[in-house]
Amino acid sequence: MSDAAKTEWSVEDTAALYDIARWSDDYFHISDAGTLMVSPGRDPSNSIDVKELVDRLDQRGLDLPILIRFNGILADRLKRMNDCFAAAINEHGYQNGYRCVFPIKVNQQRDVVQQVIAHGRQYGFGVEAGSKPELLAVVAMTDPDMPIICNGFKDDEFIHMALLAQRMGRTVIPVVEKVSELDLILKHAELLGVRPSIGMRVKLATRGTGRWQASGGYRSKFGLTVAEIMAQLDRLNERGMGDCFQLLHFHVGSQIGNIRQLKSAILEASRIYVDLHRRGAGLQYLDVGGGLGVDYDGSQTDTESSMNYTVQEYANDVVYHVQTVCDEASVPHPTLVSESGRSIAAQHSMLVMDVLGVTAQGKVQSEPIELPESYEQPVHDLWMSHISLNASNIQEVFHDAQVSLDLCMNLFSGGYLPLEQRVAAENLYFAICHGIQEIGASLGELPEELRHLDRMLSDIYFANFSLFQSMPDSWAIDQLFPIMPIHRLGERPTRHAVLGDITCDSDGKVDGFICGGKRRRTLMLHEHRTGEPYQLAVMMVGAYQEILGDLHNLFGDTHAVHVDVVDGSVKVQSIVKGDTVQEVLGYVQYEARELIDKLQEAVEDALQRGVLNNEQAGATVSFYEKSLGHYTYLSTRKV
Ligand SMILES: *Cc1c(COP(=O)(O)O)cnc(C)c1O
Repeated sequence: MSDAAKTEWSVEDTAALYDIARWSDDYFHISDAGTLMVSPGRDPSNSIDVKELVDRLDQRGLDLPILIRFNGILADRLKRMNDCFAAAINEHGYQNGYRCVFPIKVNQQRDVVQQVIAHGRQYGFGVEAGSKPELLAVVAMTDPDMPIICNGFKDDEFIHMALLAQRMGRTVIPVVEKVSELDLILKHAELLGVRPSIGMRVKLATRGTGRWQASGGYRSKFGLTVAEIMAQLDRLNERGMGDCFQLLHFHVGSQIGNIRQLKSAILEASRIYVDLHRRGAGLQYLDVGGGLGVDYDGSQTDTESSMNYTVQEYANDVVYHVQTVCDEASVPHPTLVSESGRSIAAQHSMLVMDVLGVTAQGKVQSEPIELPESYEQPVHDLWMSHISLNASNIQEVFHDAQVSLDLCMNLFSGGYLPLEQRVAAENLYFAICHGIQEIGASLGELPEELRHLDRMLSDIYFANFSLFQSMPDSWAIDQLFPIMPIHRLGERPTRHAVLGDITCDSDGKVDGFICGGKRRRTLMLHEHRTGEPYQLAVMMVGAYQEILGDLHNLFGDTHAVHVDVVDGSVKVQSIVKGDTVQEVLGYVQYEARELIDKLQEAVEDALQRGVLNNEQAGATVSFYEKSLGHYTYLSTRKV
C-alpha cells in the first residue's frame, strides 16, 4: 500500500466500511482520533471513549476480555420505549396508558435488573418472571406498584409465592399457561384470602416466522386455546370471579423481523380481548408479549438478524389496532403492556477483547523467483500461470492453477514429488490467488466464482474470548453481531479476517460479519503489529448472551464494568470481577483445598525422589495456589 492511499483514508471511510450508521442507532461513532465512542443518551457531546476507558481499566489491573455495560443506554432504551408509545397514544387519542415489563430472562444480572427498575419506575414499567428463581429475585427487588407478570409453567410453590407477594402489596399477575394452573391459583388464593389478578395466555392462530415461530400458533407449547379460555372464564363467572381475569397475553416469539406478523397477531388478540370483555371478563390489560426486534446488521430487512420496522412503527401499530378493534366493539381501551426484552437490553453492552496473534492463511513467504529445470511439469505449469496472470484472464488462470495444484498433490501422495517441490507448488498457487484478489480489488468486484477467495485467503485473528461464554448465539443460531476495532480507526484496514476464540473447539470462530448491509464471510481488520495491542469490540451482546453462555473449556464469566457519563465525565460505577480459576473449578466439583493437598503430596513425592529441592517444591505449590485465584482468560501480563 502506498503512503498516498494511507492518507486518503479517513474515519468516515472506516464508519462506512463497518456500516456504523446503519446499526448504531446513534449510540456509537468514531472520534477524530480514530477511537470508538459511545453516546449512551445519543448525544455526541456526552460520549465515552472506549479505548481510553479500556486503557484506564488496564492501569487498574483489569485484564481483557471485559464486558462493558453502558447504564445510560439501558436508560435511553426504556425512555425511548416510553416515548414511542406516548407519541402513538397521543397521536391516536388512545384512552389509556402503556407499561413495559422487562422479562428478566433476557439479562438477569442484578446490576442490570436494578438499572431497569430504577429507570423504568418513572414510566410505570415493571418486570416479568418466567420461573421460580426469577420470581424470587423480582419480588424482593421491585416497588409495590410495579407490575410483576409471571409467565412460564408454574407449580404450587410458584403460585403460592406470587400470591404471598400480592398479599404483601406487590402488583403480581400470574399468567395461566395451561388449564391446571388456574386451579392452583384459585386454591392458593382461597388459602391466603386474596382476590387474585389473573392473566391468561392465548394461543393465537397467527404464527411468527423465523427462528422462534414455534412460540406462537396452535401447536405452541404455551397458552390456552380460545375454547379453553372461554371455558375457564365461565368457571370464573360461576364463582363470581369474572372480574379477576384482568390480563390477556400472547407472545409470538422473539426477534420478529417482519412487522406484518406482529400486526396480525395484535389484531387477532384484540378481537379475542373485546369478545372476552363482553362475556364478563374484568379485562384491563392487553399484553402483547415480546418479539420487538433489534436490527443487529442494520439492513432494515425481515432477515433473521434484522427487522423491517422501527420501535415507533411498532408502537403505532399496537396502539392503532387495539384502539380500532375496541372502538368498533365499544369496549374501553385496555392498558397496553409489552414484554420487550431484547429491544431494551441488546445495545447496552459490548465485549472488548484483545487480539493475541494472527495466522496468515496462505501467506506467501517469498515470491518464487525461478524454478529449477528439474522440477516436475505441473510445478512449471503453475509458474507459467503465475507469470501470465492479468486482468483479462483471471478465471482461466485460476482454473489452470487448480488443476496443476491437484496434479502436484497427487504426485506428492504417490511419493513422486519431493517436499521442496510441494512447497514451491503451494507458494505459487497462493501467489496466484493473492494476485487474483488484488486484481479483483482494483476491478471493484470479482466474478461470482472467485468471491470465495477473500475467505480462503483470510487471516485468522485469534482473540482472547470464548464464543461459547460471551456470544453463544453466534454459534447456536448464526446470529450476527457488529464487530470492529476500538482504535486505529483512522487507518485503512487491509486484512481480510475471520475471528478465532481461545477454546479448543473448531466451532469457536466467527465468520459472519456485517458490511454494506450484507452478510460477509470476512471482516476487514488492521495489520496486527507484534507487541502492540489490537483490541476489538463485539457490540449489542446485552440480550440473552450472558446467561446462555457456558463454561466450555472452563472459560468463566468475563469481568463486567458498568459505566456512565456523569456531568460530562466518564464514571466507572461498578466493577464485577469475572470468575477465577478456582470458581469455575468449583462449578465442576473441584475443591481448591483438595487440589492443593494433592499437588502438595505429588511435590513431596518428587522431593523424596530428589527431583525437586525444597525451594523448587515451595515455588511450585505457591505458583499453583496463585493461579487458582486468577482470571480464566489468557493474560499478557508477565508471570
Ligand atoms: C422471551 C419472552 C419475552 C421476551 O421477548 P423479546 O423478544 O426478547 O422481547 C417476552 N415474553 C415471553 C413470554 C417470553 O417468553
